[in-house]
Amino acid sequence: MRQVNRRALPGRAQAYLDRRRQAPDAALNIEHAWKAARQTKAVRAVLQTLQDMAGVRERCMYCVDSHGSDIEHFWPKGQYPERAFVWPNLLLCCTECGRFKGSQFPLSVTGQPMLVDPSAEDPWNYLDFDPDTGNLTARYDAACEAPSPKGECTVQVLQLDRREAMAEGYRRTYGRITACISKALAAGAIEPQELAHELRQTDDHGLLGWCFGAVGARLQPFRDLRRRAPDAWDACAAVAQ
Ligand SMILES: [Zn+2]
Repeated sequence: MRQVNRRALPGRAQAYLDRRRQAPDAALNIEHAWKAARQTKAVRAVLQTLQDMAGVRERCMYCVDSHGSDIEHFWPKGQYPERAFVWPNLLLCCTECGRFKGSQFPLSVTGQPMLVDPSAEDPWNYLDFDPDTGNLTARYDAACEAPSPKGECTVQVLQLDRREAMAEGYRRTYGRITACISKALAAGAIEPQELAHELRQTDDHGLLGWCFGAVGARLQPFRDLRRRAPDAWDACAAVAQ
């Protein structure tokens, strides 16, 4: 998973959402209201903005593996119709993640979402990656001396630890990232910006945030890169965010 930066919507699309949010009929039958809205130019512009935010491959913002084909309501529109037309509540999602999530939306005792919102926070604060299996798991939270509850919940709802094709994709990307660094280390002279750029191009799954974070930094070849080429490490860590 990777953090995505939310962009501003085109003016007309934002105005449409604002108008719909205030429309009294919107909350009455939200499924119907949303279905009709999906046909409008304004909501097509919303989808386009989300796809632009997701990057050239337009990947799902949850799994970052499959194509993001639909607009996802982070707070489900069925239970929270008042958020159906709120821009910060809209994400890009693949069919599979949409199916797994369904209307599940666990909240903490204080009413905070227990799912990671990739447009609002760094997923790697809650998630960990297993290079052997390619699965995403909950990150160990040192403060609680237990896996992150939010990470656990996200993994469970989206089944991020039991999706074979997704895991294969993550493993492949991880292999390409490590190969790229190993090759640069073997060549000797490393041009920091060049390596950072190459890694950015290679990172189809948002893994750089993990590789250049606390866990990845303890593994090879990242550890060697940090020790032997601290400038290159810094440049790569900067693009990882
Ligand atoms: Zn997905």
